[in-house]
Amino acid sequence: IKILDARFITTAVEPKGYPTSLAPEVAFVGRSNVGKSSMINALTGRKKLVRVSNTPGRTRTLNFFDVDVERDGKPHLVRFADLPGYGFAKVSKTERAEWQTMITTYLEKRRDLKVVVSIIDAEVGPTPDDFQTLDYLQNYRRILVVATKMDRLPKARRKPRLTALAEQLSLPREAVLPFSATDKLGLDEVWGALLDSVK
Ligand code: GDP
Repeated sequence: IKILDARFITTAVEPKGYPTSLAPEVAFVGRSNVGKSSMINALTGRKKLVRVSNTPGRTRTLNFFDVDVERDGKPHLVRFADLPGYGFAKVSKTERAEWQTMITTYLEKRRDLKVVVSIIDAEVGPTPDDFQTLDYLQNYRRILVVATKMDRLPKARRKPRLTALAEQLSLPREAVLPFSATDKLGLDEVWGALLDSVK
């Protein structure tokens, strides 16, 4: 996989703000601080395409990016949709409800959306919020589970952890892909799975 270019397109809250259809879309979801921004930066080969924040829950809009990639000499254009991280407590009930509507509207209605990347912390494992999100998504979308921060686990514990995660999520073992933004681990595998599911 070769990344040719990645660029920010727009920010949106409502469907009228979504960018005009152009390419298959991949959405990224996960609890805040799971490493979503770092993952998007790693997958696009850019250090600061998405801001990695020390303040969880800062992204309150849908953010769209276009990525040009090449696989086996063939070019592909894929659009990334970065969704706000969930599970962040310090917001008002009203704000949370508005947020929920923004996210569910996108996930249920967006026609370009081909696959949702559900990001799990490999060390922490799936949280109740992760289970809820996956249960909900199963009704609507193709899902790719990626376990990030694998670098935090000693090498000998990585395979057993992936097996355990898949079991917890009731998924086949190969349905959970290992990743680390820090060690740039799993880039080709995740891109491969993404391209396979958008074509
Ligand atoms: P987001 O809130 O989900 O977008 O998460 P960020 O990408 O902002 O990352 C949250 C924190 O986790 C930051 O301190 C990152 O440096 C750290 N982090 C992200 N990815 C990794 C990873 O693959 N390995 C390790 N060890 N830390 C990571």
